Amino acid sequence: MGWHTSSLKRAFYQQFPKVDLHRHLEGSLRIETLLELAESHGIKTSSKTDFYSLVQVQENDPLTFSNFLSKFQPLRLFYRSPEVISRIAYEAIEDAAKDNVRYMELRFTPVALGRVEGFPLDEVMDWVAESTRRASKDFNIQTRLIASVNRHESPKLAEQVAQLTADRISKGFVGLDLAGNEAEFSAQPFAPIFKEAKENGLAITIHAGEWGGAENVREAIEELNADRIGHGVRVLENADVMALAQERRTPFEVCITSNYQTGAVSALLSHPLTRMMMADLIVTINTDDPSISKINLSNEYMIACDDLSLPHETLMETILTAANAAFLPPVERQNIIHLLRQELEKIV
Ligand SMILES: [Zn+2]
Repeated sequence: MGWHTSSLKRAFYQQFPKVDLHRHLEGSLRIETLLELAESHGIKTSSKTDFYSLVQVQENDPLTFSNFLSKFQPLRLFYRSPEVISRIAYEAIEDAAKDNVRYMELRFTPVALGRVEGFPLDEVMDWVAESTRRASKDFNIQTRLIASVNRHESPKLAEQVAQLTADRISKGFVGLDLAGNEAEFSAQPFAPIFKEAKENGLAITIHAGEWGGAENVREAIEELNADRIGHGVRVLENADVMALAQERRTPFEVCITSNYQTGAVSALLSHPLTRMMMADLIVTINTDDPSISKINLSNEYMIACDDLSLPHETLMETILTAANAAFLPPVERQNIIHLLRQELEKIV
């Protein structure tokens, strides 16, 4: 399994300054915190090992979407108070900073965080935003927020979230994301919502070409005005869609271990990361759900280089590419690129 390896190698990739554009808060919860919360909130957990297997992909788990998604289910029980929601956001940012992530766009699904206790969506979003502001300052990392809505849920809810997100641009929200069951649910009903979101100043990222085929990538770019594509690994199945992505210079947010664990790619070693790069697509490397996948971004950089033969120089370029694809004004992107360059030059 590619995600276990020596601490020496790990340390090498740890030192890289990093950019993560695709990380879900709900997939970034510290397991130790969950165990602690379970005790204080009277949530029943079995043994520690059993609990880990409930919320993290195990080596003998089936590599399927349904298995991967099942890991999110028990986590929902934990979103019980503003304090808990604030804490998990704070810790997720601390963990990214410790992995030398310098810039991160953290996404979360307000509806999922608010559901168990029926918290108002605007309040949930404000708790995460406030915690993000504090953690980013405390741990010296720049963080922006993206709100996610699910294709398999009602467009009405999505519309509400889109509006609340646009209202919170001054609080660090920069984008709107379409996630959820891409194989069975069309993005079409969401097109007007994403159009309006863009008019309201939000950038757009769409999960596409992960559970569904290349056609979904086309739909995301042409009909939902996607500024970036979440995953999109299946774009390689269709030359016309590839040409479209090349022409529009649409960045792809690739998440290697996640693609392997969900079965989106058949084997880790056949992950199309480098093929996408060679096809002149704009590719970034991200985590998706570090806690569920038992990874961090150092891990993903390591897999890219050591398992998928990405040269270190190309990895460095990929980090700058990610900064350039950030949902930030050009001047801020340039500032980050400048800082990253300075740091990267010190790594041989
Ligand atoms: Zn994702």
